[in-house]
Amino acid sequence: MKLTFLGTSTSVGIPVIGCDCHICVSKNSRHHRMRSSIHLETPTHSLLVDSGPDLRQQALRHHLTKVDAVLYTHQHLDHIAGFDELRAFCWHREDPLPLYSTPSCLTEIERVYDWAFSKGNTYKGYIKPLSVPVTTSFNIGDLRITPIPVEHGSVETIGYRFDDDDSAIAYIPDAKLLKPGSAELLGNLDHLVIDCLRETEHPTHLSLNESLSIIADLEPKQAWLTHIAHEMDIIKVESRLPTNVQFAYDELILNTTNL
Ligand SMILES: [Zn+2]
Ligand SMILES: [Zn+2]
Ligand SMILES: [Zn+2]
Repeated sequence: MKLTFLGTSTSVGIPVIGCDCHICVSKNSRHHRMRSSIHLETPTHSLLVDSGPDLRQQALRHHLTKVDAVLYTHQHLDHIAGFDELRAFCWHREDPLPLYSTPSCLTEIERVYDWAFSKGNTYKGYIKPLSVPVTTSFNIGDLRITPIPVEHGSVETIGYRFDDDDSAIAYIPDAKLLKPGSAELLGNLDHLVIDCLRETEHPTHLSLNESLSIIADLEPKQAWLTHIAHEMDIIKVESRLPTNVQFAYDELILNTTNL
């Protein structure tokens, strides 16, 4: 499988509108991030995890023209607000577009985008979504996908573990804690991608020390920090990271070759 980071920022993006902090005004492109989302490619399928508000620009930049399914982590708007952009992948699609997530997240997406799920949605080429609730592991083609329950404030939230014949990657963009039992689902990872908002603590997101402690417990071969806020000066912090931990960045590609 090949994973591409379409975006790696927290909900407001970086630069933040109207902010003149040294990160937001920096000309260094390493500080520029779109809202968190990934694209996963297998020999048979093209999958999105989340469809945030930057999906149009992300798809153009990444030359993304085909999406076979979308997997949602939770219904916060920085993860679902690009729903309407999914039209681009449905113009010529005959079958409905499967949307995988927890039952509660799908119920909320159905409420927010009710017209797409209504019987009145007969316009040819518009998204015909098909909700697929997930509570346990499932397959898309040969890719084994396991939902990973996490704590993230009051909203039921999951990450995902992806296993193919060559590698195992987990993607957990929004979390404050792993739920009981989740650490056991995250053994033997080649890549762990995990929330790391900033250095200071936050009520619903992992801060740097919390992320590093989870990484130390899980011992993935390589860990990548994502969902980053403008308070995080990655250039100052990266020299103190353990050797198997790095900041993710937009357009970074993970596969078995960069372990
Ligand atoms: Zn988020
Ligand atoms: Zn700023
Ligand atoms: Zn969130």
